[in-house]
Amino acid sequence: MNASDPQLKDPVARRRTFAIISHPDAGKTTLTEKLLLFGGAIQLAGEVRAKANRRQTRSDWMGIERERGISVVTSVMTFEYGGCVYNLLDTPGHEDFSEDTYRTLTAVDSAIMVIDAAKGIEARTRKLFEVCRLRDIPIITFINKLDRETRDPFDLIDEIEKTLALDVAPMTWPLGSGRGFRGTFDLARNLVRQIDRDGEPVSVNGPDDPFIKNLLGETEFEIVREQIELARGGLKHFDRKAFLEGHLTPTFFGSALRNFGVRDLIDALRDFAPPPQGLETASRKVDAREDKMTGFVFKIQANMDPNHRDRIAFMRVCSGKLRRGMKAKLVRTGKNIALNAPQFFFAQDRQLAEEAYAGDVVGIPNHGTLRIGDTLTEGEDLIFRGVPSFAPEILRRVKISDAMKAKKLREALSQMGEEGVVQLFLPNDGSGAIVGVVGALQLDVLAERLEAEYGLGVSFEQSRFDSCRWIAASAAELDKFVRAHPSSMAVDLDGAPVFMAASAWDLKYEQDKWPEVIFSDIKDYQ
Ligand code: GDP
Repeated sequence: MNASDPQLKDPVARRRTFAIISHPDAGKTTLTEKLLLFGGAIQLAGEVRAKANRRQTRSDWMGIERERGISVVTSVMTFEYGGCVYNLLDTPGHEDFSEDTYRTLTAVDSAIMVIDAAKGIEARTRKLFEVCRLRDIPIITFINKLDRETRDPFDLIDEIEKTLALDVAPMTWPLGSGRGFRGTFDLARNLVRQIDRDGEPVSVNGPDDPFIKNLLGETEFEIVREQIELARGGLKHFDRKAFLEGHLTPTFFGSALRNFGVRDLIDALRDFAPPPQGLETASRKVDAREDKMTGFVFKIQANMDPNHRDRIAFMRVCSGKLRRGMKAKLVRTGKNIALNAPQFFFAQDRQLAEEAYAGDVVGIPNHGTLRIGDTLTEGEDLIFRGVPSFAPEILRRVKISDAMKAKKLREALSQMGEEGVVQLFLPNDGSGAIVGVVGALQLDVLAERLEAEYGLGVSFEQSRFDSCRWIAASAAELDKFVRAHPSSMAVDLDGAPVFMAASAWDLKYEQDKWPEVIFSDIKDYQ
């Protein structure tokens, strides 16, 4: 696509909504800053030391995050470049917040996978990749930190192919590495892009062009020339269809820190990545080009002002046009809400969104009306699928120091549950609420917020359960099962029945004993 392309006038065709997935330390933050810099969304990238500051300004409301130096919140950053509108959905880096990350990945059309060239595929990259694969999200790969000593490129490519079962099509090839890193060679177009030289790439005759020899010196030149020939002959070539189906990843080499290779990624997003895609609802697929506005909430963030307890719900617009001031139907309750102050987010700013299109993410301020998984429409009763809840791995009973405040606690926990901070389970036998989390740090966040926002001092007690499953069966069978387990049944926030198991053995035993009951560790929001 070039600047005069008519597609650029089409608001849907020119949008790219994506996330970056990576293992901590691979360079996601650095790359994010460089991408934003490209788009002019921030004036100064300011190297990564800006990270600490940025995190502070972004979420100063939470001491925990400051103390531990981790990014707990998920947000969105919008920038424009070369006629395209890019919506980058940020995912929390810490693994305790994987639930948030998974939900965010339900709202993107593509992802950039950042890999540290010295380390290759790491645990978290792999896990996040698997989540992307559930929806076959197209992935662009960035092999980062080429300015340092790296592993052999063939080795890295082989590892990606084998561990992720994903074809790799190198688009560029590194010219040297570490201190000898000079730039990249564009395999399809015979172009050389040099590190620390801005401007247009140099067109050469091929990998044996004297220009490259000059750049690398005799010995390195021979090695690289041979590598490029091998890569061209033996590795996969780019195939857009395979990419869009999630089977092949175009791969670029670069250095986020040195702002090298970042433009390749922006171009690849523009040229190859899909515009906003149609999405499934419980009843039909919604096309991004339908006239009527639809959207779903994938993230709730408590606002910076604890006194007002207002929240921002992040909604992906899935079709039509959102206009400020319009009324939208909240399908879960059937009630209309007025979208008076939808917001766009930039690196450091936010702005009222006068209009938004499919692929855009808007923040909707509300006082608890909106929940994760909610669908908003112009009237039709649609429910978007795919903002799942995962069975928590840690279950705790919440103990409150002041028993008089039990009711307030219940209320506060419901709110935290609706925001997705924790999952809440209310035992059928009337005993105290149980909270479930995927990572232990979520409990610290919960305790801190209950204290700061509700004045509730809580502690957590081991619960006698160690896992839980949503259950489904015919009405009669379900009733029988619930009656047979009076002290192991609970309901979640939506009233869905949940079986609480004391151990893996217990769970297995019940599964074998009740073959007609479905025990599920993922729940789609309905
Ligand atoms: P994140 O945890 O994935 O967000 O990673 P960061 O962006 O915070 O980067 C982790 C560390 O790697 C920081 O010290 C960065 O300065 C460094 N880093 C990131 N990209 C590069 C790169 O291209 N080259 C080098 N040498 N260091 C990098």
